[in-house]
Amino acid sequence: MNEFALIAQYFTRPPRDGGHLRLGVGDDCALLDIPAGETLAISTDMLVEGRHFFEGTDPEALGHKALAVNLSDLAAMGATPLGFSLALALPSADANWLGGFARGLFALADAHQLQLIGGDTTKGPLNICITIYGSLPPHAALRRDAARVGDDIWVSGTLGDARLGLEALQGKRLLDRTLLRPASARLHRPEPRIGLGLALRGIAHAAIDVSDGLMGDLAHILARSRVGAVIDADALPCGEALSAQDINLRREFALNGGDDYELCFTAAPAQAAAVQAAAQGSGVRVTRIGHVVDAHGLQVVDADGRPLAIAAHSFDHFN
Ligand code: ADP
Ligand code: MG
Repeated sequence: MNEFALIAQYFTRPPRDGGHLRLGVGDDCALLDIPAGETLAISTDMLVEGRHFFEGTDPEALGHKALAVNLSDLAAMGATPLGFSLALALPSADANWLGGFARGLFALADAHQLQLIGGDTTKGPLNICITIYGSLPPHAALRRDAARVGDDIWVSGTLGDARLGLEALQGKRLLDRTLLRPASARLHRPEPRIGLGLALRGIAHAAIDVSDGLMGDLAHILARSRVGAVIDADALPCGEALSAQDINLRREFALNGGDDYELCFTAAPAQAAAVQAAAQGSGVRVTRIGHVVDAHGLQVVDADGRPLAIAAHSFDHFN
């Protein structure tokens, strides 16, 4: 199969009615309409074999995850998805792999009425790079620098199961089969919180998606907003598999697990009911985990308010 046959077979689909795409795959550029009065929101995320996923990972799960991590960034900005492009390096044109990958990718794209608008395809070590385009009214963006002293800090869904699943699959930790299933599902099939991000427009101040671990990601909000925070390690919503582990592991993986793709956001206490309503409307639970203070840095306390000595071990590719 040559490059163009591959693109035609796996990555070219008829344009969607009523979408934003004027011209899709097959020309020098894609042409995308931006809703009147809105601003483009753009984000890129790359998945590299051996770095972000094991060799031999199910291609359908990879297709899902490659797009999910990008959608998660739009969610954390409160943006509406418009389309995405796909840059793919493949060691070979393996029909099985491509079929599975395209299935996972387009199932999630369709769930968000999102079109693949173009990309690039080359031979090379397996590398999947997606750029996603969304839009939002310029003042509605949930920016990292918008947290205010006194805000509540919230997190969506649950934390820590993806890390637990990863360590179980790596053979570092023994997990019962009934727990391995939900934990590896969290690792391989994160659900981007697009609906919640949209519902939080005008309610939340700052937001970030939790990809590298809650502590490290929340620290980005704090640094950019020039504020501090206190969070309760024992108020953190642990995933199903992590809930069955001992308290030290629960705290560590909820705080520093990574790959959660939940939203961490801040909102004025007066908005607490509106936050709960936004969560209910988008079918995801939210938990209040702490508050923003006029200080420097992040303090973690236990259920009794006693400080815990837990450091952020945020994931860093070069450290
Ligand atoms: P160019 O020579 O301008 O780089 P290409 O030959 O790489 O164009 O790509 C031809 C068309 O196919 C372009 O419209 C491009 O956006 C699209 N395309 C290439 N690879 C992919 C892919 N993996 N997914 C979607 N569209 C792709
Ligand atoms: Mg090209």
